[in-house]
Amino acid sequence: RAYNFNAGPAALPLEVLERAQAEFVDFHGTGMSIMEMSHRGAVYEAVHNEAASRLLNLFGNPSGYQVLFLQGGASTQFAMLPMNLLTEGKTAGYVKSGSWATKALKEAKLIGETFVAASSEEDKYMSLPDVSNLRLPENAAYLHLTSNETIEGTQFREFPDTGSVPLIADMSSDILCRPFDLTQFGMVYAGAQKNLGPSGVTVVIAREELLRESPKHLPTMFRYDTHAENNSLYNTPPSFSIYMVNEVLKWIEEQGALEGIEKKNQDKANLLYQAIDASGGFYRGCVHPESRSTMNVTFRLASEELEKLFVKESEKEGFVGLKGHRSVGGLRASIYNAVPKSSIQALVDFMGQFQKNHG
Ligand code: PLP
Repeated sequence: RAYNFNAGPAALPLEVLERAQAEFVDFHGTGMSIMEMSHRGAVYEAVHNEAASRLLNLFGNPSGYQVLFLQGGASTQFAMLPMNLLTEGKTAGYVKSGSWATKALKEAKLIGETFVAASSEEDKYMSLPDVSNLRLPENAAYLHLTSNETIEGTQFREFPDTGSVPLIADMSSDILCRPFDLTQFGMVYAGAQKNLGPSGVTVVIAREELLRESPKHLPTMFRYDTHAENNSLYNTPPSFSIYMVNEVLKWIEEQGALEGIEKKNQDKANLLYQAIDASGGFYRGCVHPESRSTMNVTFRLASEELEKLFVKESEKEGFVGLKGHRSVGGLRASIYNAVPKSSIQALVDFMGQFQKNHG
């Protein structure tokens, strides 16, 4: 298998792929693949419900929360969220921490009134804004933040207390990387294709009351209440992707749940950041150390030529996905849950060798 550092779609656990392979053609003696089954049948519905309950279970089953399985990616949530919650007379706060937060804000502006509650734009998003003391207006519909900026490589360690204003997070690139208190949030959402499974399904976990009152004028498919009332089975769900999410959730349970996963992620991130910091400036981390992400490690070399050469030579050695996002350049290693420590050790060894040859 390749050393897969893709930002998304990203590596899946090998055990999960192998289990899915074993039941790919004949799911539990039914003579059908899970993807060939009716989404109205008992066999599929059991998988669907199991995935939702496993997810809530990882967060300790707080009461009053519901899981939705939607389509259209996190990008559709950028619009669907304000369409449903940013109603007349309200304003929505956005923490502008990087590329994805900015895209979310752009969509909300198309729908209603917004304000920037905190921003690190001045620092070119190489650190996170301080969100410890935010003042939110009384008519705030919600405060939106991006828990992990996939492109810049920053990650919030703590989340603001927003009182009665619902806190809503785009967790596309770090959901399930660590435990967190779901009850701090009104809603979290994530495209599945990094830590949850394959692309094709978007997970929304929200307090039930936020899913009940979609404005009357909204078309059926864009209403949270449609999906909430129909257990995400109003129309045909991305059934195979949801089945894979369920398998990934089983795997997370086997890793010691979120506590176990967090330890592994911390250990993996430390290994890579230490290699960068110990290189005497040959490799330079892009982000202020206190804002560093455990999921997307961004770093640079002295010149773009050298970075190009790094990518080229790494590809020859079986490494995939180390080129930084086209909008910021540099290098990026995405080390999501499914990337084994052995892949990171291999990368660190390669980095050492590259420095010897070109330093
Ligand atoms: N938000 C974050 C933090 C992301 O990393 C991404 C994708 O990389 C998105 C949103 C967009 O997700 P999607 O491609 O599922 O629309």
